[in-house]
Amino acid sequence: MKKLGLHWKILIGMLVGVIFGLVAAVFDWNAFVIDWIKPFGTIFINLLKLIAIPLIIASLVKGVSDLKDISTLSKMGGRTVLIYMLTTIGSVCLGLLIVNVIKPGSSVTEATRADLLAGYGDAASGKIEMALAQKDQGPLQALVDLVPDNIFSAAASNTNMLQVIFFVIFFGIGMILIAPNKAKPVKDFIDGLNEVVLKMIDIIMLFAPYGVFALLASLVVESPSWSLFQALLWYSLCVLLGLGILILVVYPSLARYFTGFKYRDFFSGIGPAQLVAFSTSSSAATLPVTMERVHEHMGVEEEVSSFVLPVGATVNMDGTSLYQGVAAVFIAQAFGIDLSFTDQLSIVLTATLASIGSAAVPSAGMIMLVIVLGAIGVPEAGLALIFAVDRPLDMVRTITNVTGDATVSLMVAKSLGKLGKPKVRNLDDFYHKET
Ligand code: ASP
Repeated sequence: MKKLGLHWKILIGMLVGVIFGLVAAVFDWNAFVIDWIKPFGTIFINLLKLIAIPLIIASLVKGVSDLKDISTLSKMGGRTVLIYMLTTIGSVCLGLLIVNVIKPGSSVTEATRADLLAGYGDAASGKIEMALAQKDQGPLQALVDLVPDNIFSAAASNTNMLQVIFFVIFFGIGMILIAPNKAKPVKDFIDGLNEVVLKMIDIIMLFAPYGVFALLASLVVESPSWSLFQALLWYSLCVLLGLGILILVVYPSLARYFTGFKYRDFFSGIGPAQLVAFSTSSSAATLPVTMERVHEHMGVEEEVSSFVLPVGATVNMDGTSLYQGVAAVFIAQAFGIDLSFTDQLSIVLTATLASIGSAAVPSAGMIMLVIVLGAIGVPEAGLALIFAVDRPLDMVRTITNVTGDATVSLMVAKSLGKLGKPKVRNLDDFYHKET
């Protein structure tokens, strides 16, 4: 009998998780789910995070040192940054267009607003403090933060991914510049390390269906009541509409136009990473899967995927920037504040920067939204209005972020002549052969 492909297993895990969570909520098994099921979800996320830094080190050193000369690296860097900026700005503009046309904030009644502010005020103020701490830094702090003073302490935290990338690229450049016979043993070691890490990801992915089951079951029992979702229905629909356009139309079209990827191949290539993104709400946790999919299944050569994707996971967040645009205008509408054209322009600017500054972890986009609200003079307490529905929207914006990174890696690879034939395009073949 034909075995089920991994993406189907993950989908089934998600579905069963949601159903189980709903049943558990009805029978009040919440404590059981939190104590006995949720830990497996946490273990799955930990495994993915565990592999992220070794993966970046092994594949990026290999990638950079394979380049042979530094000019290709700077070409690749320039194109990557340019396309990332353009897609992010385009996404905020799309979000603004949708929210200004649909105007979801005007349907929020006085009573709902008071309820939401009362219910989520405390939770929101925690996020506001976190954002303000970041905002107090000087203009060049981001640049200073890029350069670690100690590689071990940088690699000791998954939040310092850009510092690790900086060190690894620097190391790779060093390898290009020394005599090939001296570089060879280091290169051989890194090549072998890379294979081992990729195999470890395959093994972790075997656990994915159970991991996502646990994540979704615990998410359902911990989620707030339906009535709040309904109050925020139009707002949520605006965000989802924008994200849906990006995921289903914009990215596959860009991939088709620039790289010739067919719609179906695009999704069967990136699908498992999208499902993991949805379940974990973290581009950083999904990174190992994204890198494996893009390289092994979509044909992007490693020197491109190992550079474009880790950088993208940290700085390119189209879903987050779109969401920040919609959320900022929605909150302004709900408070009855009129936004001028200049305000909207400053949303484009601040949401672009805020999405770059958002960490690739759950809820990060919401924390940085405070900065966008501050720039247009909308009360930051408005965060409380959208708190209740943030998690499901976060899950979908993380899919968007991950899909955006993958698309840009295809485009950059194509433009540098580094998009090969996908090694294994059919998921089922791959996983059957491997497992
Ligand atoms: N969770 C998102 C990510 O990891 C960031 C966000 O909160 O928008 O990509």
